[in-house]
Amino acid sequence: MRLSQLLITRSASASNDDNDLLERAGYTHRLADGLYTLLPLGHRVLQRISAIVREELDRAGAQEVAMPLLQPASLWERRAGVFGPQLFRVEGENDERLVLAPTHEEVATIVASACIHESRDLPRILYQIQPRFRDQDAGSRSGLMRTREFVMADAYSFHAGRESLDETYTAIKNALCAVLERCGVRIQIVPAGSGAMGGEESEELLASFPRAANTMALQCEKCGYAASLEIAECAHSDSTEDVLPLEEIPVPDSLAPARRLTGLPFIAAGRVGLAVMPANRVLNPAKFAGALSGHGFNIADCHVASAAELANLGGTYDWISIVRTPPAVFVIADESVRAGANFVLPSPRGGYFLKNVNGARDFRVDAFADISFAAEGDACVRCGKQLNAIRGTEAGHIFKLGHRYSAAFEMGCYGLGVTRLMQTIVEQNRDSRGIVWPKTVAPYIAIIVPGNVHLAEQLYSSCKELEILLDDSDATTEEKLRRADLLGMPFQITVPEDGSVVEIRERLSTEIHHVHASDVPAFLHDSVPPGRTV
Ligand SMILES: [Zn+2]
Repeated sequence: MRLSQLLITRSASASNDDNDLLERAGYTHRLADGLYTLLPLGHRVLQRISAIVREELDRAGAQEVAMPLLQPASLWERRAGVFGPQLFRVEGENDERLVLAPTHEEVATIVASACIHESRDLPRILYQIQPRFRDQDAGSRSGLMRTREFVMADAYSFHAGRESLDETYTAIKNALCAVLERCGVRIQIVPAGSGAMGGEESEELLASFPRAANTMALQCEKCGYAASLEIAECAHSDSTEDVLPLEEIPVPDSLAPARRLTGLPFIAAGRVGLAVMPANRVLNPAKFAGALSGHGFNIADCHVASAAELANLGGTYDWISIVRTPPAVFVIADESVRAGANFVLPSPRGGYFLKNVNGARDFRVDAFADISFAAEGDACVRCGKQLNAIRGTEAGHIFKLGHRYSAAFEMGCYGLGVTRLMQTIVEQNRDSRGIVWPKTVAPYIAIIVPGNVHLAEQLYSSCKELEILLDDSDATTEEKLRRADLLGMPFQITVPEDGSVVEIRERLSTEIHHVHASDVPAFLHDSVPPGRTV
């Protein structure tokens, strides 16, 4: 391909704090927050990743299908509570209510029921590589990491029993790990929560990279404990402080968040409750829901109580302050409250604070539970050493769903974000000069940077069988070399002004090979990894 003919935005040089190297290098074009066009270079990478996914899933015995991206909204009634805000809703003819597919568990189950007639048909694994739609917050700087429309590879497996599910789960997990390895992505696998999918067991395939802002999981380097943030636990060692007498004090100038108690009023199916935890901890919705359902709450209808709702129930916000909770209010406190002592909180008498507040003596707690996120620096629940954060992104998520979606089958589901994987590859394989594509997924295996235009043209013609890029633009050699670094093709071929020996530089190792022009096709051919069609 000639660069002069390629549909590409004008590239600039890389900078270290680039959030979106793909956009800067001309692989993608942003239409709006979370909506991107994949330009030809980006599209080629996506096709290469998809080919690897197909190869590995086919090998694991999965069969490719394409399920509709429009689904009847009625399929979503059961999961509307957890998925509702993320659903893109569409209205069809005659007021027909539809949604743009965020995932396909329900449809896959219907397909399986139609195609699987007897138990000897089992197990069956189906998969697809298709766009997905989720109305999620995708800032202008997230690139392909978080988008509202994205391509996913998702597989669904159906089984007569647990043993078969376990076997396939391992096979598909290995297939997805093979995909990631071939794409040059390094991962860690951690136990995770089932979230919006529901089900019994799940694991996240996490890709960490230095610039990542989000903590995805916590791990202990001493004993090896690791878990996704949603389910990670920590140990709370009991306070060694003496329990001091309760005092009322003027509003303090400063207060350590770990000292200050906060109360979050909530309502679940008309029942009022108060969740209590120190201000340095964050409520974990999944743990909270689990703890509440253990106490008989209907969590499908659980939400933070507004002042108006509390007033309607015969009280005010103040009425529900931690030290004056009426008996009808269910008080659930985080384990850190049980372990701590001598907390501080605003006094029901305005303008004052209460100091040395202690549970049981000064306020009632109906249940203690682990309802907050564990955080970096907390103590490991197994050995007590400090937990470290794994920062990065979720490359894949796999679930044993059991019978959640079907009484007839045990089911597994397996997801890999394909467009996100493009960005993850870039994040794990970049330097200050730009992208460094692994040879398996690079859109072109090499780029020719001409010094001698005539010889470069000859070389380009002799490499017709290979997928290479020729920078035939008017830019200076220096600019071309800078652009070649930014674009990240595995080999850069510089053709000197004189002589017929060219310089082939490896983008990753910067190693230089001096090769006679006539030997370049053979050199490139031998350098291409198996599985990549050149
Ligand atoms: Zn540990």
